[in-house]
Amino acid sequence: MSKKVIIVGAGLGGLSTGLRLASRGFEVTILEKNSNAGGRLNQIKEGGFTFDTGPSFFSMTYEFDELMQDCGIQTPFEFVELDPLYTVNFRGENQNYYLYKNVQKLAEQFADKEPDFENKFRAYLKYCESLYNDTVDVAIKQNFDSLFAYVKALMQVNPKHLPVLLKSFWNQAGKYFKSKEVRQIVSLIAFFLGRTPFDTNAIYTLLSHIEFTHNGYYNVKGGMYKIVEGLVDELKKKGVTFLYNTEIVGFEEQGGELSSLLDQNGRKHHADIFVINSDAAYFRGKVLKRKKFSEPKLKKMSWTMGYLTFYIGINAKLPQVEHHNYFLGNNYEDYSRDVMKNPGTLEKPYYYVNVLSKHNQECAPEGHEALFFVCPVPNLLYKKDWSDKDEIIDSILKDFSERIGEDVSSKVVFRKVYTPKEWEQQFNLFAGSGLGLSHDMLQIGALRPKNFDEEFKNTFYVGASTIPGAGLPMAVISSKLTVERVMGYSKVN
Ligand SMILES: Cc1cc2nc3c(=O)[nH]c(=O)nc-3n(C[C@H](O)[C@H](O)[C@H](O)COP(=O)(O)OP(=O)(O)OC[C@H]3O[C@@H](n4cnc5c(N)ncnc54)[C@H](O)[C@@H]3O)c2cc1C
Repeated sequence: MSKKVIIVGAGLGGLSTGLRLASRGFEVTILEKNSNAGGRLNQIKEGGFTFDTGPSFFSMTYEFDELMQDCGIQTPFEFVELDPLYTVNFRGENQNYYLYKNVQKLAEQFADKEPDFENKFRAYLKYCESLYNDTVDVAIKQNFDSLFAYVKALMQVNPKHLPVLLKSFWNQAGKYFKSKEVRQIVSLIAFFLGRTPFDTNAIYTLLSHIEFTHNGYYNVKGGMYKIVEGLVDELKKKGVTFLYNTEIVGFEEQGGELSSLLDQNGRKHHADIFVINSDAAYFRGKVLKRKKFSEPKLKKMSWTMGYLTFYIGINAKLPQVEHHNYFLGNNYEDYSRDVMKNPGTLEKPYYYVNVLSKHNQECAPEGHEALFFVCPVPNLLYKKDWSDKDEIIDSILKDFSERIGEDVSSKVVFRKVYTPKEWEQQFNLFAGSGLGLSHDMLQIGALRPKNFDEEFKNTFYVGASTIPGAGLPMAVISSKLTVERVMGYSKVN
């Protein structure tokens, strides 16, 4: 008889784990708090508009390919390669920088700002590539049974990278580039990790290799939610059951194992094996009542920033705006130092704008555009009151209108807003932190909450706050590592 697995959470981590386990013959049920699958990888479909709600592009498509091969299926969605990757605009400058993957084309834009940009950029990328090659298999795509095993793995990394461990992303960028524009653009990727270039370790410059040379960025034809729809279809074909509107709030144990989970209506869910896709730190504290993850302890951990996201439908087309765009101010260093903790940065916010309808006409009514804004903000530990959200959004729309030379505010026909409070409530994200636990050096690898439970032998974790970390490809890698754990347990039990 096949073993029964319950997965708590239908985020990308939960869905990928479900697919791998169902393909291996397990009987899988996915319990999800919300009325649909996807978690942060979600969509809003209202008033004729479709918006990606969270992730809007991603790298490392080969991890998705590996998932499909592992499960013996064709990829049920279509990747769309981005080139330019995105645009960057600095406040007060008329110019938009286009982040082309072709280094010569990229270099033409920096001819005035950074002499010899092309050679410097190639040298920068070469080192990023060696960092990637020397760490990704040893330290990122690995299960560690103990701290000792982790340290042993780190010792296999080429010692030439040691000095980098002592530097910030910003300082490493400064080793290669003098111009502030280039340093800012190159280090922007640290924000994608929910931190800033000043508090992100230089080891993460390996992401520049992934971004520009190894794989690039992609989104999905028809919008990012097609990933979820495709995976859910495949899961259903493999007989996986979904129970929506089911939030796990308690548990029962027997003989050192979890025996059942209790939902908000008091219903018990039994299984042989449990995989938790709810945040690995939050769930241990809130549901399993572990002291190490009590609320005061969670507050002491380092959490990524929050996001103010808003979804705007307008009754006009914006041919002058690309699909993915960053609008930065002109105080990058001060802003970066403050953005995680100081609500004062919201007086002149930095933000990202995604125009999903640019390449997916069906995502807005004819003659309309679907705009998705993401503004990095302090999470709820540093800003609890969001009664000023409309004021902040109006100021962003005003700034955006000035920069693109067209009044957008008066053309708004649809508007929806998620502050960190909504992000927290919808997906149980601690303090509304957008990406979960930070990737600081004390919270990665074996130092991150483990993907196996400390007490219950039949319980495992997958997703952003366990290994390897945040982002869509990491959720897919996480599912691979978790399934390794489940198979190990299953063999001997
Ligand atoms: C605004 C924003 C923009 C982002 N942009 C990008 C991007 O461009 N590219 C990229 O790669 N990544 C991006 N990310 C990060 C990415 O979304 C996440 O890393 C990834 O989706 C996390 O997947 P997950 O499976 O770990 O968790 P989640 O997506 O959070 O899934 C967990 C699921 O568990 C459910 N759940 C929680 N608690 C319970 C419970 N007690 N009972 C039942 N169900 C429960 C939740 O409702 C949720 O559905 C972004 C994130 C945000 C917030």
